[in-house]
Amino acid sequence: MAQSIEAVIESDESICIEAGTGTGKTFGYLVPALKAWYLHDKKIIVSTGTKNLQDQLFYRDLPNMRDALSVSPKIALLKGRNNYLCTYRMDQSLDSGQFQSRSMVDTLAKVKSWSSQTQSGDLTQCKDLSDNDPLWPYVTSTNDNCLGVECPDFADCYVAKARQKATTADVVVVNHHLLLADMVLKDDGFGELLPDADTVIVDEAHQLTDIAHSFYGQRLTSRQLMELCRDTELEALTTAKDDRQLSVAVRRVEGAVNEVRLEFGESGRKVNWQLIATTALQAKLKDLEKEVTALCERLERHASRSKGLDSCHRRCEESLQTLSLFNSTFSPSNDEKAYPAVRWVETYRNGFAVLETPLNVSESFSRSRNEHAAKSWVFTSATLTQADDFSLFKKELGLEKAKDLVLPSPFDYASQAILHIPRGLPDPRDRTYVEKWQAQVLPLIEANPGGTFVLFTSYAALNKVKDLWQEKLHDKKVFAQGELPKNELIEQFREKGDAVLLATSSFWEGVDVKGMALSLVVIDKLPFSAPDEPLIEAKIQAARKSGKNPFFDIQIPEAIISLKQGAGRLIRDYNDSGVLVLCDPRLIANKYGQTFLKSLPPMKRTREQNVVIEFLSSLNQVIDNND
Ligand code: SF4
Repeated sequence: MAQSIEAVIESDESICIEAGTGTGKTFGYLVPALKAWYLHDKKIIVSTGTKNLQDQLFYRDLPNMRDALSVSPKIALLKGRNNYLCTYRMDQSLDSGQFQSRSMVDTLAKVKSWSSQTQSGDLTQCKDLSDNDPLWPYVTSTNDNCLGVECPDFADCYVAKARQKATTADVVVVNHHLLLADMVLKDDGFGELLPDADTVIVDEAHQLTDIAHSFYGQRLTSRQLMELCRDTELEALTTAKDDRQLSVAVRRVEGAVNEVRLEFGESGRKVNWQLIATTALQAKLKDLEKEVTALCERLERHASRSKGLDSCHRRCEESLQTLSLFNSTFSPSNDEKAYPAVRWVETYRNGFAVLETPLNVSESFSRSRNEHAAKSWVFTSATLTQADDFSLFKKELGLEKAKDLVLPSPFDYASQAILHIPRGLPDPRDRTYVEKWQAQVLPLIEANPGGTFVLFTSYAALNKVKDLWQEKLHDKKVFAQGELPKNELIEQFREKGDAVLLATSSFWEGVDVKGMALSLVVIDKLPFSAPDEPLIEAKIQAARKSGKNPFFDIQIPEAIISLKQGAGRLIRDYNDSGVLVLCDPRLIANKYGQTFLKSLPPMKRTREQNVVIEFLSSLNQVIDNND
């Protein structure tokens, strides 16, 4: 891997590398990256999927590799601006005193006190501010509300300092959202978030396509509008107190946003724009447009009074533009043919988003890459291929000309793991399916001396099984997703050693539990995306129109990547042993099942429950011997 990347960096080319679990992927790209810096003064950007992985790279892997190679490049960690304290907004919030609860006031006081000690302003290090604290938007900035060089706090701004540090670094660690924001902004010619680099290394690259879809599209959220209202109020308190009508206009926008949210109905929906457009909803959206227009007009009068009000005016105009675009497209429009995108709505408990997502990002991503300073690109992940074939990944991102390399995992799957597909289960659409598979899996969990992950494709099935097993599994602790924050849940699961964890999509990847604390992974169904999700539905229709078979060309390849991620939770180390149970009988009954099975590591296979129980029971001896 290191040699291939070295060659690609030298020749200004691109490469896609699937590196199986245990290959040492991180060191495989860090070594040639640091060598390229040392020998040729090349600047490197490393982008990864999550903040946790960024921290791991920056605080552990990069320093280790730097020490091992006895080199000393300047390294920098750059997160999205919403991770850094914005002192301007913090002070503005303190002055306003407008909070929904006493606890927000207390937390704000703690953040203020922390702000006098922090060097980086990275709020993820502030112990008093939890991940889901409602205070976050009050103490962080967005692209929309940041005042930039005109901010009175600019000289000490943490976002500006972090970016400044990144511009002088040799290796910068970022995440995919930041990388894409930088590429898209460059694309629009607005400005640069990241320093120029010679090489970009994208780790966890299988996540890039989905993130790219959201960056090359458009969206307007109720949160954007509510934040605009709040920022207008805060700015008005200091610079436009004399205009009471501004406050009235803000209240009316807030009211109209709430009305639209009510009209959208239950939360957790993703619906095509055309399907949701009832007459009542159209009327509410038109009302919202009218109120946003009124606020825009009001703000225009005050825009020259402060940078803050000017920025609110600009944001209001942008929101209005997007809203008008959506309101003008209730009837199918011709431009959808010219620009293949899907317009849709997502509802949350207290809000909504209206979105326009392009069906294809390959051209946009290629254009952004061509305009980027970096001439060599590395895309790597443990899951980029379907049976060693990179076609889908390359096609989606316009990487057809990139080289590729598959590096299988060095683990001895044939002796470390068993793949079990239970016998006699009905088709997953059968209403007795959940009841039947859980009954077959229960004896395996009881025989397993270690921990068990059960990965679900739906919350409905998770809740059903949770109720059943909390009654039946007396000797094991059963955890379920949502009971605790993800990291804490995994930590407690790991500590228990023989617990059962029931979880859905966000646990299918990025979870690393080594040893006997995870020796059984159960997957309830093949993870096909819901065909009625607007983006999937639109892709399916587009594939049909162009004479393709959407099931084989889109749904199966995407499900294979997800299945590989889920299955990858089991064997994390040379000493790990365990069983992967795939309950879905379509793996055997349908011809396409072979495509899935061929994409999985070469585990020994059995359909016999007693063989699995025997294998799991034998793991007891592993524990005894280790003791
Ligand atoms: S420049 Fe932007 S992020 Fe920095 S303190 Fe000012 S408003 Fe906040």
